[in-house]
Amino acid sequence: MPVPLLDLNRQNLALHAELNAAFERVLASGHFIMGPEVEAFEKECAAFLGVKHAITVSSGTDAILVALMALGIGPGDEVICPAFTFFATAGCIARVGATPVFADVDPVTFNLDPADAAKRITPRTKAILPVHLFGQSAEMAKLMVLAHENRLAVIEDAAQSLGARYRERCCGTIGDLGTFSFFPSKNLGGFGDGGLVATNRDDLAEKVRLLRTHGAKPKYYHKVVGGNFRLDALQCALLRAKLPHLPAYIAARQRNAATYIEKLSALPGVAAAGTPTAATARLILPVEQHPCTHIWNQFTLRVPGAGRRDALKQHLTAAGIGTEVYYPLPLHRQECFAHLPYGSLPVSETLASEVLSIPIFPELRDEEGQTVATTILSWFR
Ligand SMILES: *Cc1c(COP(=O)(O)O)cnc(C)c1O
Repeated sequence: MPVPLLDLNRQNLALHAELNAAFERVLASGHFIMGPEVEAFEKECAAFLGVKHAITVSSGTDAILVALMALGIGPGDEVICPAFTFFATAGCIARVGATPVFADVDPVTFNLDPADAAKRITPRTKAILPVHLFGQSAEMAKLMVLAHENRLAVIEDAAQSLGARYRERCCGTIGDLGTFSFFPSKNLGGFGDGGLVATNRDDLAEKVRLLRTHGAKPKYYHKVVGGNFRLDALQCALLRAKLPHLPAYIAARQRNAATYIEKLSALPGVAAAGTPTAATARLILPVEQHPCTHIWNQFTLRVPGAGRRDALKQHLTAAGIGTEVYYPLPLHRQECFAHLPYGSLPVSETLASEVLSIPIFPELRDEEGQTVATTILSWFR
């Protein structure tokens, strides 16, 4: 039985009526830029996140860009971010003229290692940009202490973690600014590109709103140089139809993750990340780390041993099972960052050669999950 890595139609076609109604509403209104749908969606996002301001923007990438711009980060500044993440995290730092300083990640959570980040602080450091990768929070308590002690701003890249929690708080609402993405493969997937900036700070919210429309206030009077970072009214209307379903989508991903963990744990040589046996395991399973609530945007295995990850990926591909390597090359190894000096980033390099993400989307059927698990088990036997 073939199993796709992600099937968006199962989720979206189930909401056919609601989505059509949203489209008809915007069509009839004739109002396509900003306006009531945008405002309503922003209010609903703020309520969902428990944050004062939620500001829609054109993408998750632009959310990071505008957050850096709002903090006034630019040439001569350094921003610490993980070496193991999606490119946009560091790309935006470089785009504002600042220097991305790569820190290593924790091998259990895949997230920024606070101790390694601390070592990379210099007088030029202006901010820390942790990522809540694959649906689980970075170690925010330690990172916030580090930031306070060194007077650094914190931008949380929560593109993959809308609805994930660190203790009682939502990811993306703990630092100065949090950024989210509505890219179709994210937990709240839109119908094209889209993003969100969250903040509890009135001053930063005002700057983000200003920067979103070319820094103009009032119209045609430009206080600062911003950009066109708006999210369409149509996109907001469609996303409004999906937001109420997000808790159910998250719960389904959590069920799928629990099933994988139960099935795959049965194999000898399989260990949960962070346990004593993980050091010699043939397959390492991802874990939910206290005090985080994991929302499983990805379910990412580690397959140690030279060439073994690629061999398992091939085995699954041959069986018609979709997988992906997020991410095959750490950021300090990217051609565009070859000019930057970097220290040792051994965990990021190891993860890049060992990770493999398997289907976890909410609408994955029980028998499909079983097929994925048994196909993995058959490779080890
Ligand atoms: C998806 C993603 C982004 C960028 O979001 P887009 O909406 O695709 O621009 C940034 N950071 C991380 C960690 C992501 O996964």
